[in-house]
Amino acid sequence: MHAFLETTEEAAFEAAEKIDMLVESGVDLSIIGPMAGVPVAYKDNMNLEGTHTTCSSRMLENYVSPYTATCVRNTLEAGAIPLGKLNMDEFAFGSSTETSAFGPTRNPWDLERVPGGSSGGSAAAVAAGLATVTLGSDTGGSIRQPGSFTGTVAVKPTYGVVSRYGVVAFGSSLDQVGPFARSVEDAAMTLNAISGHDPLDCTSQPVDTDFTANLAEGAAGMRIGIVPAFMEAEGLTAEVKAKVEEAAEHLRAAGAELVEVELPNAQAAMSAYYVLGPCEAFSNLSRFDSVRYGYCDPGHKDLGGQYEASRAKGFGPEARRRIMLGSYLLSAGVYDKYYYPAQQVRTLITADYTRAYEKCDVIMMPASPRTAFKFGEISDPTSMYLSDMFTISLNIAGNGGMSMPCGLGADTGLPVGVQLQSPQFRDENMFRAAAALEQVYGKAPVAPAFAG
Ligand code: GLN
Repeated sequence: MHAFLETTEEAAFEAAEKIDMLVESGVDLSIIGPMAGVPVAYKDNMNLEGTHTTCSSRMLENYVSPYTATCVRNTLEAGAIPLGKLNMDEFAFGSSTETSAFGPTRNPWDLERVPGGSSGGSAAAVAAGLATVTLGSDTGGSIRQPGSFTGTVAVKPTYGVVSRYGVVAFGSSLDQVGPFARSVEDAAMTLNAISGHDPLDCTSQPVDTDFTANLAEGAAGMRIGIVPAFMEAEGLTAEVKAKVEEAAEHLRAAGAELVEVELPNAQAAMSAYYVLGPCEAFSNLSRFDSVRYGYCDPGHKDLGGQYEASRAKGFGPEARRRIMLGSYLLSAGVYDKYYYPAQQVRTLITADYTRAYEKCDVIMMPASPRTAFKFGEISDPTSMYLSDMFTISLNIAGNGGMSMPCGLGADTGLPVGVQLQSPQFRDENMFRAAAALEQVYGKAPVAPAFAG
């Protein structure tokens, strides 16, 4: 299935032995931390000292982390057992893990299909029962879309809830780390462990929310926003639409009120993202120059030639496409035409959400327009980019969102995720709605071929 790129047996056994000893001596595990003894694995864009952090790229194939990312360290300090590093789309560019330089990850529900991406390894590992919890990152949908494709609880918190220190940057104003799990409580407990201010990331906020606090409250009295235009969106398959409508009805039956809300500028989100994302990626990836970091093509006498050959060979096609796009978009004369308007779109979308949340506590929509597709089925970049039609506007606004499994599609028999979104720093709202849905659908199962 190829979810893992590297396993950390030694560290795992060492951490497990420590926990065993404490259990034997009668210590209450909750004193150690909220993740005591929980097997966890990390997307390969997260530094863990002594492991490779490749971002699934030839560029970083031989890079060994000299330090540990704050989000990873927080899990370890909370008692987690580190299992290793997980496959992803190269530098998190993609929606299928097909752009990984080390080969794709397969979807545990159907090995002929993609697990989604870019956090495909993180999603597949949880869906196959190989890890209890994993961490992924989401810049435009990379936690929620694979969560939907693999039937896992997949959370992209509000921007600033989790430190980005030590996570290899794609789009610094969009990236956010979050957990994959098979239960809402596991996801909430993990977020408790990894959230909060970090002096090493000035965008991280002093969040001390207990995300498990209102899981038992039920949906009664909640206002759930539905965006009618999204439910009629072109490309949304009938089976996904039916499942999302059914989930909304379940929340209504549990006492929630369904209200219609509008996000009128959301149709510009995709265009804005494919300006802002590549611009930020272009800047962030300039550090991989074969001197400070990354693959160094041997035998060049001049530095220019070394840069050119190393970057041409080190980066795969999708990474090169984003770099070239960002380079063009930030060039003189072009910048004003694209980057600046994209930032204005960002302000409009953020304002749309603020208005919508005057009428509701949570917004509900599909996480992905369809269930998992087959390898190679989507080959042109533009169609692949449409995988994120329901996820991107959230990153643009910086709000919280999650994909919650709501059963299997009637046509494909594959997992469907309903997306629950929260206002900024009100992530507990979506956890509450998710817990109410879990009452109906049960905890996310391990994919049948891997169960038992
Ligand atoms: N699929 C989107 C992209 O290719 C989102 C990726 C992400 O969230 N990292 O950019």
